[in-house]
Amino acid sequence: MTIGILGGGQLGYMLALAGYPLDFHFRFLDPSPQAPVGRIAPRVTAEYTDFEALDKFAHGLALVTYEFENVPVEAARHLAKHVPVFPPPQALEAAQDRLNEKTLFQKLGIPTTEFIAISSAAELDEAIQKLRLPCILKTRRLGYDGKGQWVLRSPVDVAELKKDFPSAPLIMENFVDFTRELSILAVRGRSGETKFYSLVENHHRGGILRLSLAPAPNLSPALQKEAEDAALRILEALNYVGVLAVELFECGGRLLANEIAPRVHNSGHWTIEGAVTSQFENHLRAVAGLPLGDTRTLGYSLMLNLIGEVPEPGQLLRVPDAHLHLYGKSLRPGRKVGHVTVRADSAEQLSARLKQLPGFFQREEFCLPSRASGVSK
Ligand code: AMP
Repeated sequence: MTIGILGGGQLGYMLALAGYPLDFHFRFLDPSPQAPVGRIAPRVTAEYTDFEALDKFAHGLALVTYEFENVPVEAARHLAKHVPVFPPPQALEAAQDRLNEKTLFQKLGIPTTEFIAISSAAELDEAIQKLRLPCILKTRRLGYDGKGQWVLRSPVDVAELKKDFPSAPLIMENFVDFTRELSILAVRGRSGETKFYSLVENHHRGGILRLSLAPAPNLSPALQKEAEDAALRILEALNYVGVLAVELFECGGRLLANEIAPRVHNSGHWTIEGAVTSQFENHLRAVAGLPLGDTRTLGYSLMLNLIGEVPEPGQLLRVPDAHLHLYGKSLRPGRKVGHVTVRADSAEQLSARLKQLPGFFQREEFCLPSRASGVSK
């Protein structure tokens, strides 16, 4: 069976690596001739909106999925006329616009931040009056890794923003004083079977995910259930097939949904070594109509993102159960070029292994805050 994947970045790369043992073949489509998957699979270089190229790409495919959430919805709908597309295009539609996404949470009774859609500087003051400072203003579409966001803490910030007011449709949200950021990965098969991974605690630097701890420390069964219930409602409402990530804020012991990603997710990379079945294999099992794999956690894992630079592999790989994944991308500041997962059988053993990591990882950006209890570094 040949599976077509829209997007040829590291997520696609890891999907293919997980799929080869199941005898899947892959064909990718990406606008960039440098897309990393070119090293391991046939790749078509074309724009997502080039319908003629999409038709050629789709020829002979058993199904199409995507690893990039900003694939134009029209492209997914066009392909869906000829070949099954999973997750369904309505999931892309919900996830690509923060207003649609938050409205969906509300409709499904999933707690989220207070929000107001705005499109002009005039509407900004009204929104601030309702939500009160501090607030966070975001572009509704195409924001990622903290781009297209403005935190407004004071009237000075508001005046500054008005001088160069963004022209895109916007959403204003309450600034949430959260205890921590969590995410849950859920997977739903073609038969409607669902499974969930353990909640993960995420740490960002400069808006980019840097570290994920799995399972999230101090995880109560009630919190896990709250996250699973929210994810299940979204999966069912969208008639979803594949892996879905839900990003959450923990606030006063409760969860607020922030956003969804209709694809495999960076906060699930630890599952390659840290869960019985990885998110990548489970996504493929789901879209191919196979039974889903066990999502149980294998001990304790910390995933560290490599951004713009990579460590010397020899020293790192001396640490027991440390795993290096490089994506074959050229090194550029701010670019995710690989990740490392360190796995252990207990939180204490994980702490001990993290202390053995080479100097490269002892810098501030790789350190866990001391309150990430149970694990230290
Ligand atoms: P997002 O693109 O929505 O994932 O936002 C990027 C990061 O900004 C999140 O991981 C949070 O650290 C922060 N953030 C986003 N929305 C809010 C909010 N409403 N309140 C506080 N922090 C936020």
